[in-house]
Amino acid sequence: MTRASAVDARWSLRARRAHTLIVERPHTEPLLGFYLSLLELQTDVCVPAEAARWLPAVNASSESELPTLRLERLPLGELSDTFTAFCRGMPSTAPEPIARAAQAASAADAETRTNLMLALLSGSRFDTEADVLACQPEPLAFLPRGFLSPLAEALSGLVALPDRLPRTPTCPQCGWPPQVSVLDDEPDARGTRRLVCAFCAAAWIFPRSVCPWCGTSGDEGLQFHVDDAMPHVRVEECRSCRRYLKSVDLRVRGLAVPVVDDLATVELDLWAAEQGFEKIAANLLGM
Ligand SMILES: [Zn+2]
Ligand SMILES: [Zn+2]
Repeated sequence: MTRASAVDARWSLRARRAHTLIVERPHTEPLLGFYLSLLELQTDVCVPAEAARWLPAVNASSESELPTLRLERLPLGELSDTFTAFCRGMPSTAPEPIARAAQAASAADAETRTNLMLALLSGSRFDTEADVLACQPEPLAFLPRGFLSPLAEALSGLVALPDRLPRTPTCPQCGWPPQVSVLDDEPDARGTRRLVCAFCAAAWIFPRSVCPWCGTSGDEGLQFHVDDAMPHVRVEECRSCRRYLKSVDLRVRGLAVPVVDDLATVELDLWAAEQGFEKIAANLLGM
């Protein structure tokens, strides 16, 4: 049994939400159970407290430059030992392909492990590493993402976004695409939409009616699909580019935690796939 108390305080909201959703939606237990043990592994192995010392290496050269972080400049050799510990510590709740990828990466040489991190940060495919390690690319990609996302999140939290942010469909902090969209009321604006980054979890304001993938709005752009079982989560799918992401409406369910509610609504991803829509960015667990 996983315990929210064993999870870094910054992620305790996510852990509590995962526990709640497992009770409300028992079929999510295998996925969210793994997510909870992953939060514990990240707490044990990843060292966000040290993030400040990596900042000079990855900060963009000028204050107005986007994205503000160039994470591909991280000194990956220095992270090699902890990445090995992360792979070796993969919990028994991991899906079989991820467990196998973690085992293969643990047994590989240091250069191969560094290449996994580099492939993720430079947006490359994992085909070469998949051949070397005799694994599928997707579970291999999970390893550096699961390991580096706490560091990305910590670094992102150390950098202030420019005041006058241009309308950008990718994360202004790290350049990754959005994972999920969030709706909430603010003191000066009702129904503000924010996009949440798939890697560093930064959130930034984006127009409600615009597709973050292709920029289309109006009748050719977004339409919405809601499942009655989870009325605060909807699919925002684009008629032009056939991409989608989910939107979590905090005005309907104030206790929702968007990245966790995204993980807990696999049926919406299956629905979207059946309709021929492709997600803008798969979540950490590959959905
Ligand atoms: Zn980001
Ligand atoms: Zn689109």
